[in-house]
Amino acid sequence: MRNENFGRRGALGLVRRRCAGGSGAVGAVWRPVAWSASGGNRPGRGNRVSDHRTITSYLIDMDGVLVHEDQPIPGADKFIKALEEKGLRHLVITNNSIFTQRDLSARLARAGIRIPPERLWTSALATAQFLDEQRPDGTAHVVGEAGLTTALHDVGYVLSDVDPDYVVLGETRTYSFEAITRAIRLIRAGGRFIATNPDPIGPSPSGPLPATGSVAALISRATGRDPYFVGKPNPLMMRSALRALDAHSEATAIIGDRMDTDVVAGLEAGLETILVLSGVSSREEANSFPYRPNRIVDSVADLLV
Ligand SMILES: [Mg+2]
Repeated sequence: MRNENFGRRGALGLVRRRCAGGSGAVGAVWRPVAWSASGGNRPGRGNRVSDHRTITSYLIDMDGVLVHEDQPIPGADKFIKALEEKGLRHLVITNNSIFTQRDLSARLARAGIRIPPERLWTSALATAQFLDEQRPDGTAHVVGEAGLTTALHDVGYVLSDVDPDYVVLGETRTYSFEAITRAIRLIRAGGRFIATNPDPIGPSPSGPLPATGSVAALISRATGRDPYFVGKPNPLMMRSALRALDAHSEATAIIGDRMDTDVVAGLEAGLETILVLSGVSSREEANSFPYRPNRIVDSVADLLV
């Protein structure tokens, strides 16, 4: 079953229209339009999800929605192009804190998906923004990569391992015993423990890799302190992305592949939620959750029809 629509009628935002002056299939193009959700015609019991919303902005999860690792998901490039042609605001979001916006933009370009750096939002940027608001011009000891250190530098943070305000853990593929030991000692000495994202594992072509959440668990065990996780499913990540996009939650949809991060974070941040089945969560799994997305589609390609 494709394009299952909970409490919605009509196409999501993107409808097929013919070019002016075009004829037949040659003149047909896919164009997005702002999605007006009228609701009210859902069979069965009442439609409680918000009605009369016009969606003009999109937060789009990256892995499992636009790409699988470095491989594009079919239709993702056309979907992004369609949003651009219509002038619908969008931001691609990821819990991955390894890369800078420019790195990610280049990686997506290699997969044939053109997203300028300023249209990317990472858990590293959300973490830096959060710390800047909490304690401006502070100091941090970082276990992480350029995505995180660059983001912290950009908000005016000084990286230090002498009595830092925060110990910030991000994703890295080069965790060392020495680096983890230093983080543990600094936290035990009073450094506040922050982690960019809670994901226990990450994907790789050769199988799952331990990710930030797993290393955070190790540090928690050694310090007796749990970190504050900034990335998804913390709705803080969504709110910071909305600010970066200068968009309002009422007029914004999130498109994600995970019920336990994208959909719940979108729900809690007051966004319209769209689950794609091209990534982690299956339809069966989605139905087992105590909350549900506003809409489920096979992939972003289905949002073009
Ligand atoms: Mg994903």
